[in-house]
Amino acid sequence: SNEEHTPIAEFLKGQVNIATEFRGEIKPSDFEEYLTKHGFEAFKKCLNELSADEIISEIEKSGLKGRGGAGFPSAIKWKMVQNAKSDQKYIICNGDEGDPGAFMDRMLLESYPFRIIEGILIGAYAVGATEGRLYIRAEYPLAVKRIKEGLKICKSRGLLGENILGSDFSFELKVFEGAGAFVCGEETALIASIEGKRGIPQLRPPYPAEKGLWDQPTLINNTETFSLIPYIIRNGAEAFSKIGTEKSKGTKVFALAGKINRGGLIEVPMGITIRQIVEEIGGGIANGKQFKAVQIGGPSGGCIPASMSDTAIDFDSLKEVGAMMGSGGLIVLDESDCMVDIAHYFLSFTQEESCGRCTFCRIGTQRMLEILQKIKTGKGKMSDLDLLEQLAINTQKGSICGLGRTAPNPVLSTLKYFRHEYEAHINGKCPSGKCEELIRYE
Ligand code: SF4
Repeated sequence: SNEEHTPIAEFLKGQVNIATEFRGEIKPSDFEEYLTKHGFEAFKKCLNELSADEIISEIEKSGLKGRGGAGFPSAIKWKMVQNAKSDQKYIICNGDEGDPGAFMDRMLLESYPFRIIEGILIGAYAVGATEGRLYIRAEYPLAVKRIKEGLKICKSRGLLGENILGSDFSFELKVFEGAGAFVCGEETALIASIEGKRGIPQLRPPYPAEKGLWDQPTLINNTETFSLIPYIIRNGAEAFSKIGTEKSKGTKVFALAGKINRGGLIEVPMGITIRQIVEEIGGGIANGKQFKAVQIGGPSGGCIPASMSDTAIDFDSLKEVGAMMGSGGLIVLDESDCMVDIAHYFLSFTQEESCGRCTFCRIGTQRMLEILQKIKTGKGKMSDLDLLEQLAINTQKGSICGLGRTAPNPVLSTLKYFRHEYEAHINGKCPSGKCEELIRYE
């Protein structure tokens, strides 16, 4: 039929909705409607039928890995917190998304507040947490509002507070608004910020699972991770693990943006290729331009050239090509984008957001930026490229948290796949034309 070929139908085809289940069919703040769409069934199943061990074993069987960026197996974290000896345990939902071009957490929190609350409830029940925080950036006022409304309704329905639904499980959940520092997405910095301290990452171990919020065992997972939990519990581990690849199960939510015909929040099965996302879901490059590359994973990720667009999107395949999944930013670049400029842009972001604790992250990135600026303006030398690479490698090695360890990735991946563009600038030419003016007049 005609309908199947509308842009919206093409955009939705090929997507698999788990975190975004019932997309377009439910009103975000309608609790009754959520109930009619299996809302809180998974949580009730946990409360009435499953032991904590059974819940965690289901998560383990599903193969779920954390969606915040690093891809750590969720069940291992859950088990660590469950086994930690303490009367007080906490749970935190990390919604402190700050990457340029990323809006996954924002859309999930705004659109599916009850599902995220349900995921957190299940996590809290499984690990024995009695108190939790939803850490949301204050720049997301609608997300904060919807979650707060959701919490109020849940409380009035006996889903939060003392003796939840008549059981002996009691749990309190509150919103904490982050002040907009990118580094606070790092879990130890996030915890420090809730405690009222400066958001500076700490050396790990000890991990938050052993010693987290106010020194107590704390389960901290990303927003998307929590939003997948109710589906897994309700439909069983296999319903989830049969989607995706051998080592990357389920789906991944991406914020598809950049020079694409159809951008937006997408949820795709792991293992889908970059080409499928760009061409089929995104409808190809906008304005008839040539596809050049994608920057995956925001400032911590890497760029993958169009010639490698058959690369599968899963944790391992991306690592193999020098990129990383990251939390889900996916920016499409065309022929008018300059790769030196892109590297400079992302590095200037992380440089500005560095907390300053580690020398290489603080100063190494600054020196790298200076070199990039020189190259962009046609004043670079060929020997600068080696220096840039060495600084990038040292910054990866000499930084204690993910921000510094991944900050050089955009530089390293563009050096690897677009070295010719760096060389062209050094020879006085920007292939995309973007830096021509700079080269001429600087
Ligand atoms: Fe701070 Fe950077 Fe060190 Fe992370 S790597 S602790 S952001 S200085």
